Amino acid sequence: MDLDRTSPGPQVPLEPDELLDLDRRHVWHPYGPMPGRTAPLVVESAAGVRLRLAEEFCGRRELVDGMSSWWSAVHGYNHPVLNEAAHTQLERMSHVMFGGLTHEPAVRLAKRLVDIAPEGLEHVFLADSGSVSVEVAVKMCLQYWRSRGRGAKQRLMTWRGGYHGDTWQPMSVCDPEGGMHELWSGVLPRQVFADAPPSGFEAAPDENYVRHLHETVGRHADELAAVIVEPVVQGAGGMRFHSPAYVRALREACDEHDVLLVLDEIATGFGRTGALFAAEHAGVTPDVMCLGKALTGGYLTLAAALCTPRVAEGISRGEVPVLAHGPTFMGNPLATAVADASVGLLLEGDWAGEVRRIENGLREGLAPAAELPGVTDVRVLGAIGVLQLGHDVDMAAAARAAASSGVWLRPFRDMVYAMPPYVTSDEDVSAICSAMLAAASEG
Ligand SMILES: *Cc1c(COP(=O)(O)O)cnc(C)c1O
Repeated sequence: MDLDRTSPGPQVPLEPDELLDLDRRHVWHPYGPMPGRTAPLVVESAAGVRLRLAEEFCGRRELVDGMSSWWSAVHGYNHPVLNEAAHTQLERMSHVMFGGLTHEPAVRLAKRLVDIAPEGLEHVFLADSGSVSVEVAVKMCLQYWRSRGRGAKQRLMTWRGGYHGDTWQPMSVCDPEGGMHELWSGVLPRQVFADAPPSGFEAAPDENYVRHLHETVGRHADELAAVIVEPVVQGAGGMRFHSPAYVRALREACDEHDVLLVLDEIATGFGRTGALFAAEHAGVTPDVMCLGKALTGGYLTLAAALCTPRVAEGISRGEVPVLAHGPTFMGNPLATAVADASVGLLLEGDWAGEVRRIENGLREGLAPAAELPGVTDVRVLGAIGVLQLGHDVDMAAAARAAASSGVWLRPFRDMVYAMPPYVTSDEDVSAICSAMLAAASEG
């Protein structure tokens, strides 16, 4: 047999129509029906902040990405440094199991994360996705209390309006109303919900709300393993910003009542809100912190749950002294090598200046939206811009309006929002703002 091992033979490219037909019939998309009802755009390649489409859409073949592929592609696409990290690692090994084996990319990444995370987080559990890292965080907390002979502490508290992922434990702490998981309210573990935090990053903290947080933690302390929230920005639950004072209040309440605090920084981590981690706005160290999304610069799926020695030692002193969790692809060398390069690239560059520049561009470009009929709020924090509408957005019409302005946006529920890659030029930020205004007017 004459097998040429370096080439699988020429692949016949799929015609766009054929591709879309197969996609519709066989491939689930996020929160989508099967078969699909609306045709997605086919992306051929991406570089910098631009997505290149297989076919023209609304007169455009290229779109500026206003979404960073769901907060992840902070350095833009096809970045030479990240490509190089991936190539180099690929030639060594793309994967080996993590049980009984270790490797440099995972160790380097863990050390780097510990170095930059809020003081006191020293141990890193690498997971495959954000949702899984939340599962691990919850397991850590429940096991901590069980190990300490307080097995009744197995519920979670959060505030309304949050989003923590799509697997079971994360779903149970997502906003219980109008959110993506309402269907399962009778089936999910029943958690404790405080009211949603009052809006406004710079708003003076509401003393009544702070008291409400303290009371809710206090009332349920005997059954609470942990409080879990997104600090400062609630992302997929509604893109709302709140005062860091409420995160501090939760830290104090948790300390007072012997409850652990988990901060989900999967969306906010790596500079998005103007601080490297949103917990820094509050000057708080959580007991467990979840990271994901921008961790690999949007190249590969990877997440992490970091914890303090108190949590790790608590677990280790228990009857079952190990954390029984070990995904097949835990610590994947390719993903950890790219993540290490991506975090390195971020830290070497002026990420804070870039985020501030984008923040200013969004503030200026979105200001006129306050005059638009149907827009009830315009808010910007770091490299996040949101137009709140008084009605549910027509997603297809809004996406078309944005694309006509040369920008890819994916509005949802009652808002049009953007979180551009940090490398987005002023000109492209301004195009994103125009596209958001167009989407808000026509969606
Ligand atoms: C996206 C997100 C998750 C879930 O991460 P996946 O990688 O999609 O599983 C969890 N928490 C927050 C805050 C997120 O934004």
